[in-house]
Parts: sequence; C-alpha cells; structure tokens
Amino acid sequence: MRGKIIIIVAPSGSGKSTLIKRLKEEFRQLHWSVSFTTRPQREGEVDGKHYFFISEEEFLKKKGQGDFIEWALVHKNYYGTSKGFVSTKVDNGFSLLFDLDVQGTDNMKTEFGDEAKAIFIAPPNLDELEARLRGRGTDSEEVINVRLENAKKEILRQNDYDFCVINDDLDKAYADLRRIVASILEG
Ligand code: ADP
Ligand code: 5GP
Repeated sequence: MRGKIIIIVAPSGSGKSTLIKRLKEEFRQLHWSVSFTTRPQREGEVDGKHYFFISEEEFLKKKGQGDFIEWALVHKNYYGTSKGFVSTKVDNGFSLLFDLDVQGTDNMKTEFGDEAKAIFIAPPNLDELEARLRGRGTDSEEVINVRLENAKKEILRQNDYDFCVINDDLDKAYADLRRIVASILEG
C-alpha cells in the first residue's frame, strides 16, 4: 500500500512549526520531507534535519535538472521538495509529512490529487499573528513585514483545503490536528 501524503500549510507565525514538532513526537511512523531552501539558517536549525540549506546557484541547478516535485519563491527565498525522496518513500508505503506554503500545496494537489491531504493552520487573527512573529524573535523587521504581507493573502485561502485548524489555544489546536492526522493515517 502507498504511504499517505499529509501537508501542513499555514502563514508564517501561525504556530505551524510548534504544532508539527508535537506531531512528529507523537506520530513516529510519519516521515518528514526535508525541503531544500536558499534562506539563511536560523540559530538552532540543523542542516539536513530542518532543511537542506543550499545556495541560490545550487538551487537553480537542481531545479533545472528537474529534481523538485514542487518549488516556490516564498518570502524572497527559494524552497523546494525533492522528487526522488517523495516517490521512494510513498511508493514503499511510508507516510510523509510536509510543511509547505500555499503555492507548494496547490502544486502537490495538482500532482497527487486527493491522495495529498492538506491541513491549513490559521491564526486567530492578524494582530495575534504579528505578535507571534515578533515574539519569536528570529526575524528582522524587514522579514517580519514581508511575512505579514504574505500572511494577509494566505489567510484568504484558509477554507480552500481539506481541513482547517484555528490555532488559538495551542492544546486545543493540537487536539484537533492529531484527530485529523490519525483519521488520514487510518483511511
Ligand atoms: P510558524 O512555524 O507558523 O512560523 P511558530 O511555530 O514558530 O510559527 O510559532 C510562532 C511563535 O508563536 C512562536 O514563538 C510560538 O511559540 C508561538 N505560538 C505558537 N502557537 C501559539 C499559540 N497557540 N498561542 C500563543 N503562542 C503561540
Ligand atoms: P520558514 O522560512 O519559516 O521555515 O518557511 C517559510 C515558508 O516556506 C513556510 O510557509 C513553509 O511552509 C514554506 N516551505 C518550506 N519548505 C517548503 C517547500 O519545500 N516548498 C514550498 N513550496 N514551501 C515550503
């Protein structure tokens, strides 16, 4: 049987990484799709674990070779998902968890149709999203502003996917998310 494809899609700052960390701890059978990116590595991030951090030149070369199943320019950096990794895992029955932006999610839906299940994580509102982005303390003012502008557009897509979880209270959001993921894995 083929593995499942589960995509978490959310505006930056909505709490997606926090929720995904919990999912990875609980659902050990889920494999993580490590994306390639040209964005600078943040403190605490490990190359090959959180992302493969590569130069723009390397990224464009891989893109030209057709190495990505999907890729996108997000907040002025490139991000891409490895085609070889995804097909090997899914064909061999391993379920995969993805963290993608809306463009990548749309492209995965085009590629895999209903086989790819997308869960949108929405912040309670834009003020709270801004407070979380600032509170995280990982990004410059310029980066925060780019992410906020993009978030305004991305939030409009929140009802376009298979599921939507509002991350207001973290424990409640996680309870919703784990129920959805469990149902996809059982299906
Ligand atoms: P994303 O991966 O979507 O960019 P993060 O998971 O890094 O977002 O969360 C952004 C910030 O908001 C972090 O500092 C995180 O601890 C905090 N956060 C996440 N979820 C909640 C929540 N439900 N309530 C309050 N703060 C939250
Ligand atoms: P961050 O820089 O905060 O880790 O991620 C920024 C955005 O890029 C997030 O919305 C995240 O979902 C998205 N992203 C991460 N990896 C990929 C990928 O491989 N493809 C696409 N399309 N988006 C990605």
